[in-house]
Amino acid sequence: MKFGGTSVATPDRIKRAAKRVAREVANGHDVIVIVSAMAGKTNELVGWVDQISPMYDAREYDAVVSSGENVTAGLMALTLQEMDIPARSWQGWQVPLKTNGAHGAARIEDIPTKNLDEKFGEGMKVAVIAGFQGISPEGRITTLGRGGSDTTAVAFAAAFEAVRCDIYTDVDGVYTTDPRITAKARKLDRIAFEEMLELASLGAKVLQTRSVELAMRYGVKLRVLSSFEEYDETAGTLVCAEDEIMESNVVNGVAYSRDEAKMTLLGVEDRPGIAAAIFGPLSEAGVNVDMIVQNISEGGKTDMTFSCPVSEVARAKQAIEAAHEAGNFEYGELVVDDNVSKVSVVGIGMRSHAGVAAKMFKALQNEGINIRVITTSEIKISVLIDRKYMELAVQALHDAFELEKAR
Ligand code: ASP
Ligand code: MG
Repeated sequence: MKFGGTSVATPDRIKRAAKRVAREVANGHDVIVIVSAMAGKTNELVGWVDQISPMYDAREYDAVVSSGENVTAGLMALTLQEMDIPARSWQGWQVPLKTNGAHGAARIEDIPTKNLDEKFGEGMKVAVIAGFQGISPEGRITTLGRGGSDTTAVAFAAAFEAVRCDIYTDVDGVYTTDPRITAKARKLDRIAFEEMLELASLGAKVLQTRSVELAMRYGVKLRVLSSFEEYDETAGTLVCAEDEIMESNVVNGVAYSRDEAKMTLLGVEDRPGIAAAIFGPLSEAGVNVDMIVQNISEGGKTDMTFSCPVSEVARAKQAIEAAHEAGNFEYGELVVDDNVSKVSVVGIGMRSHAGVAAKMFKALQNEGINIRVITTSEIKISVLIDRKYMELAVQALHDAFELEKAR
């Protein structure tokens, strides 16, 4: 059972969460509880680090920002003890949850089950784990990236072969799109791992992308539900393998990413190695390049367009200009448009249905929305459009694919 920041935001909320845990104990289960920091705590800690050291040492960043979870883990264990349930807290290093040394975005390498199993054997009923944190090969505290306690939860579920992994959060499940953009958004009873992966990476912030990858790889039975509703087999959204979903719409979700930028290198020489020469430095500069489009060439020159988050434009520009000055490649002009958003439709049904792209483009045309860049994958079509049309595009696509109706 994983409780997000809003579910442990106050001592009262922690008590309410503990009651859910108590019910599972009463049902005869041993429970591993993963807790986030209290709502807003991690942001506050990150803010303090930035105030003191903008170019911080990532090891100390982790030492600071991991601390929010320590507080909630202890408080949850105390709450359970007050209810006469044998419980104790575990920080990442005590388990130990072993990660690599990539501070701030560490990957889990191993969760030995020995220590917890021993305590469960001695009568412990609940292990309360501080989410989001682990220990590096050098013995330093690491964190798993923002939203990382989802990944802690799934990793524990996999390591301990849990019967279920329930993620309690502030929304009651996964929706066809953001309900703040259209009231027609519908909660999905089930969603396939692949679809959830696309939605998560497109910015639907319900689950950390990495947690979905892990759940898919290890077949973890993953349910997202609100901490304000009771658990049962129909609550929230089950994230599961494709073959556990009988009927599904061709498109199951419309996702968006608001603050995107489009950068175009005009008049790039067209020769082997040019893409590597451009995107190598971008990757070294830590720019998250998303869409890439290369034009057909004319007279040995071509245009190369890519998208990245608005916040990374300055870094991207710098990297390109530095590589250009170093003589790695020639280009005519660099054009930046930082007023675009990405809107995507996602659905495993696309694999077996033609015409999804045409329908999407038609719906956008009907609203007079111009498409700037298009990319597709097996189960997703994404377009870049002017940001001022983003909401309209999401609504139009939700209508066009009739996502308000369940099949
Ligand atoms: N507290 C961390 C964050 O806010 C981890 C988490 O809650 O998943 O990113
Ligand atoms: Mg979260």
